[in-house]
Amino acid sequence: MFNIVIFGPPGAGKGTQSKLIIDKYRLTHLSTGDILRGEMAAKTPLGLEAKDLIEKGLLVPDEIVIKMVKNKIDDNLDKKGFIFDGFPRTCEQAAALDKILRERNTTISVMISLEVEEEELITRLLKRAETEGRQDDNIKVIKNRIQVYNEVTCKVADYYGKTGRHRPVDGTGSVEEIFDRICRVVDESEKVTA
Ligand code: ADP
Repeated sequence: MFNIVIFGPPGAGKGTQSKLIIDKYRLTHLSTGDILRGEMAAKTPLGLEAKDLIEKGLLVPDEIVIKMVKNKIDDNLDKKGFIFDGFPRTCEQAAALDKILRERNTTISVMISLEVEEEELITRLLKRAETEGRQDDNIKVIKNRIQVYNEVTCKVADYYGKTGRHRPVDGTGSVEEIFDRICRVVDESEKVTA
């Protein structure tokens, strides 16, 4: 398998770039945000538990998301590989992911970290609020999400850095320009993995 993580603060463009990466590299998309929104829409017990936290901009507990991810991995072990989007968001999640993949004889080859300044993130998320109407895209919750990113999630970059798998990519410019930068990193990493 060939697995990658796309990482970055809320509004960095992980979802947009994931779509392009999936098409080009034939990877299976695993977005914990999408799975959680699906659970919320279906009003499952998990969805109802997550709703409160998501609408405050807080993280859903590690054990819940790790279980979700493990199930999705096991349902797709016959695929070429995964792109993890919005996961891992804590170092505990990152360590759990490494363990799950190791037990299945595979690994994360590279973590692509989209870098965008805070002011630009807020502008993008407020714009998305107009088009997608997500409950967590309002200024108060956006600020909380960015704060959680700065206090907790950004440490995940160091986790991958320690094993030489962290690749920062400039997340500003046109969608195509950013995608080109990402492809250069993915191509390089695929060559090494092959
Ligand atoms: P964004 O990257 O725009 O913040 P996501 O769709 O990835 O959006 O996530 C939306 C929300 O879902 C997060 O703010 C958080 O509450 C919850 N969530 C998603 N992924 C995780 C995760 N790996 N761990 C904990 N909570 C998560």
